[in-house]
Amino acid sequence: PGRLICVGTGIQLGQISVLSQSYIEIADVVFSLVTDGFAQRWLASLNDNVQSLQPFYAKVGELKNRRETYKQMVDEILTQVRHGKLVVCAFYGHPGVFASVGHRAIKLARDEGFETKMLPGISAEASLWADLGIDPASVGHQSFEATQFLLYNHFPNTRSHLLLWQIALAGEHTLTHLSTTQEKLEILVAHLNQWYSLEHSVIVYEAATLPFQQPRIESITLAQLPYIQLNAISTLMIPPAEALSLNHQILAQLGITEANIG
Ligand code: SAH
Repeated sequence: PGRLICVGTGIQLGQISVLSQSYIEIADVVFSLVTDGFAQRWLASLNDNVQSLQPFYAKVGELKNRRETYKQMVDEILTQVRHGKLVVCAFYGHPGVFASVGHRAIKLARDEGFETKMLPGISAEASLWADLGIDPASVGHQSFEATQFLLYNHFPNTRSHLLLWQIALAGEHTLTHLSTTQEKLEILVAHLNQWYSLEHSVIVYEAATLPFQQPRIESITLAQLPYIQLNAISTLMIPPAEALSLNHQILAQLGITEANIG
């Protein structure tokens, strides 16, 4: 019977887990979605039957909704599972973090009775904490997809770190374009300005995807966001605007004071 395993290749070459790599080696077919040619060639060196899912994205000049793209990718994957193959999907980063194709394919395959598994990978977020030298436990953190943050009523916790993923697509609700506009970013800035000052320092972060590269860690003010270069791999990190404050009600219930806290 067919089987479906989704694995993450990490952000940089060499970050894949030993377990994920061995699944790639024994797969009947590997479907890949990776960001660079090095990663693609490395996959091809492990397995003779690696098929990139990249061609399902809109061609230059073509108007294609990303929902259609994802549906076609899932169909392609499921067809092979139904043919009884051991199918491995190798997606960059973590296969199930801000990435829907793996989750959808697994759900469909599972509903049809096939064995499935998702193996975690090193995500952009994992790289961010390492490169910025921040432990997310220090004050906590929130993550949102930038467009969802705009379109829905989310309320940032200004005492914790806030990550906005896909910042280069912020407000691109049609799902047909691969970039946003200055006007949309100005709306995002005005929205964030309800909680953060325009002078608040934010970081545009891009983890290095090749070992000889440095990460991009660009500190700008919130007001500058619409006017700087944003790329498909940019993540916006908004540091806290306020210090943590104690919940004295809970402290009282626990019968402790500030001095008792380790
Ligand atoms: N599954 C991927 C994320 C896919 S969504 C993962 O596990 O990381 C795409 C978004 O991820 C980008 O818009 C960006 O916000 C983030 N991202 C991807 N590559 C990145 C990189 N090299 N550096 C920083 N953020 C990255």
